Amino acid sequence: MEYRIGLLRGDGIGPEIVDSAVRVLEKIGEKYGHRFVFAPYLIGGAALDATGEPLPPETVAGCLASDSVLLGAVGGPKWDDLPGDRRPEKALLGIRSAMQLYTNLRPARLYPALRGECPLRPDIVQDGFDLLIVRELTGGIYFGDRGYRTGKYGEEAYDTECYSRTEIARIAHAAFRAAERRRGRVTSIDKANVLETSRLWRRTVHEIAGEYPEVTCTDMLVDNAAMQLVRNPSQFDVIVTSNMFGDILSDEASQITGSIGMLPSASLGDGTRGLYEPIHGSAPDIAGQNLANPIATVLSAAMMLRYSFSLTAEADAIEAAVDAVLSAGFRTADLLHGRPGALGTVEMTDRILAAL
Ligand code: NAD
Repeated sequence: MEYRIGLLRGDGIGPEIVDSAVRVLEKIGEKYGHRFVFAPYLIGGAALDATGEPLPPETVAGCLASDSVLLGAVGGPKWDDLPGDRRPEKALLGIRSAMQLYTNLRPARLYPALRGECPLRPDIVQDGFDLLIVRELTGGIYFGDRGYRTGKYGEEAYDTECYSRTEIARIAHAAFRAAERRRGRVTSIDKANVLETSRLWRRTVHEIAGEYPEVTCTDMLVDNAAMQLVRNPSQFDVIVTSNMFGDILSDEASQITGSIGMLPSASLGDGTRGLYEPIHGSAPDIAGQNLANPIATVLSAAMMLRYSFSLTAEADAIEAAVDAVLSAGFRTADLLHGRPGALGTVEMTDRILAAL
């Protein structure tokens, strides 16, 4: 089979980690007889510098013409002072919205070999954890009405959270379907003791839950969830939550897996085309130094094979190769927390290729 993959390298460490994933996909292509055709497009700061826009129309058209899209990361200090609508990060919201991707899957699991790198006490993670955050991606406060106005105390700014029943229902379906394929438990996270949007969220999730009798559904307030994630992460199977709560909780979940450089993500809509990217940013502090951990991006490529192309054996092979490399003791610097012996981005990728 031939698959056309749009490549959005982006800024900072983006080009280095996307190149690692491309090498891994090429190896998979060789081994399993697939042809991956890579089509690069500009996004973020790189696109701003070249065209004056963070998300040029050619990039959107190219992504919509691809079978799936792999993204590195965007942003950096060079573009930090630009107005909000011209910042590189604006391109992320734009491409997700143009591709109509409303479901963001963020798996977080503690590899047995990384138990020692987890900042939680050994007795808390002795059984490991394996959870999936299902984050709503195109609604809520990141997309609501916003602006400045003069209020009681002078200048003030506001952002608005708005969710429709339809938006909540479709993300709830995605979470229940995922739970059916996993351990059958959904925790819906909201702030229903304060927010009206959360009360609609909770009511809608429970209506949808009735269609999935094999799945249990419980609610948790977001402040409690932030605490439970570090108190007892193994209690969670699938977490479903809003755009902003999912953004914040998934960074917390990433840290207890050992490093933010470990967590992949998939953004999906109604069809098979998706956008796959690590959950971390462009890490300008380590860009261009062969220091970045490529694993989150390599695992994002594995998610692409699984969710967009239904290439399950190929996805399993990548995940097993990462497991084997970590079990053999190989680490990038972010996983060693100052201890010596780190591999660079290229050398870690070489190890994953060798394990494949
Ligand atoms: P970040 O995730 O880029 O970096 C946070 C810390 O984690 C840094 O110390 C960085 O060196 C480290 N880190 C991140 N990924 C790593 C990896 N693969 N290997 C090793 N270490 C890694 O977050 P930040 O510093 O808050 O943001 C930097 C820029 O990225 C900003 O411009 C921000 O807006 C942007 N950003 C982009 C995305 C995206 O493209 N999806 C997401 C978050 C932040």
